Amino acid sequence: MKMRVLIGELKHETNSFIERKTDRRSFEEYHLKLGDEVVPYFEGVETELKGMMTAFSEDGIDFLPVIGAEAMPGGPVAREFFDFAKGVLLEALRNEAPFDGVLLALHGAMVVEDSFDAEGELLSAIREVVGADMPVMITLDLHANVTSEMQRCATATVGYDTYPHVDMYLRGYEAAKIMGRTLRGEIRPVMRHRRVPLLSPTIPTSKRPYAGIMDGVREMEQLPGVVSVSVMHGFPWSDIPEVGVSVVAVTDGNEALAESLVEELSGRIWSERAFFRKDLLPPDEAVRRALESPLSPVVLADTSDNPGGGAPTDGTQLLAEMLRQQVQDAAFALIVDPESVDAAIGAGVGQRVRLRLGGKTAPGKHHGVPLDVEGRVLTIADGRYVIQGPMCTGLPIEMGRTVVVDIDGVEVVITERRTQPWDAEVFRRLGIEPGNRKILVVKSAAHFRASFEPIAKEIFEVDLPGLVSNNFINFQFKNILRPVFPLDGQD
Ligand SMILES: [Zn+2]
Repeated sequence: MKMRVLIGELKHETNSFIERKTDRRSFEEYHLKLGDEVVPYFEGVETELKGMMTAFSEDGIDFLPVIGAEAMPGGPVAREFFDFAKGVLLEALRNEAPFDGVLLALHGAMVVEDSFDAEGELLSAIREVVGADMPVMITLDLHANVTSEMQRCATATVGYDTYPHVDMYLRGYEAAKIMGRTLRGEIRPVMRHRRVPLLSPTIPTSKRPYAGIMDGVREMEQLPGVVSVSVMHGFPWSDIPEVGVSVVAVTDGNEALAESLVEELSGRIWSERAFFRKDLLPPDEAVRRALESPLSPVVLADTSDNPGGGAPTDGTQLLAEMLRQQVQDAAFALIVDPESVDAAIGAGVGQRVRLRLGGKTAPGKHHGVPLDVEGRVLTIADGRYVIQGPMCTGLPIEMGRTVVVDIDGVEVVITERRTQPWDAEVFRRLGIEPGNRKILVVKSAAHFRASFEPIAKEIFEVDLPGLVSNNFINFQFKNILRPVFPLDGQD
């Protein structure tokens, strides 16, 4: 008889410093697909579920997709929505049985309003239904905070290997292949996990220290008996005890080998801790150096107002600095401000409009103040585009009603909804060819590199105090297990 696996996706990266809760509507705005809606939606999107479905089809394994749910990173997930999503999975496990395995695409840094460890709670509930022996496997975002409860309940964990995340499809595919081999009795996965007490800034995997660490991971994965090795960077803005970098090794029945791999890898990461830092420029210097550069375009990344880490994306400090230095020929993605969108649409294309722009969600310390500016409305659009670059190719993005307003030489993209402008299509779809501008601004920590590095001649990351700042001393952590590097020294 054919094997059968329940599959699903439930992903959220939770920033504990954001007050606004992530509720059902937040998921619906990104995607919330149930039952029969899952397959058609994910067939066109290069993420984990498509990888899983492809691998199971190749292996002749039946699968039942029950949920595909993700929201933009933001504040803690509402208990009501989490219980709903958990209930969908548990009901399917009970009512649609029998299953031979469970394979879920999770993020690993989800925090519920009254629970630090959402994925641990979910997996523990699944274990109670399916018992101790059924393989329950998960894929995790590279920014997962892997907890001991998650690892206790999972049979195998496969994390992304890349940041920007261009291997979601491959990791879903890999995890489904591991599930297939397990169900056919070809392997017996055992797993070890180790947390490194280290908060990692948002550093791409192509740069030190991660480049060398990932070379080591690939060597380990070639060893006989090794099934999968993952390094998760953690998400420092989830203020929960088990935050930090972590490593997971899955082997074929060899616990001693798995133990030695996590020991070696975690030791190596700790010994490189001095390199877990970012080169950030103050905003005045970043703008000046971009203006002085003979090359174009120069990309300025405001990593601290990145919606991909939960920030409100209406910060104004960098735009204010550009206006102060009279930047021309620049495009800025983006500022979330529904009131300004309304005002610009009311004025109409080609007309001048006065705006009180941005800085409204968390005014003052973190994201600046509203800017009183005047500009000309260049574009009014529906804010829909489809990712064309290598990360999440095919994913539809909905920015809500969107306008472009030229403010003294800076074309500012203003939207109704928070979305991360990691794909150059955010400009192209609005009639701005990014290669033709002197300066481009993106509110993104590293994902923009997949699409913008081929266009950008230089990239500067800007040091601003937003709610995903890489300067961890800007935050009042209450729950993180101490000591932790770099908050408590240890160098
Ligand atoms: Zn991530």
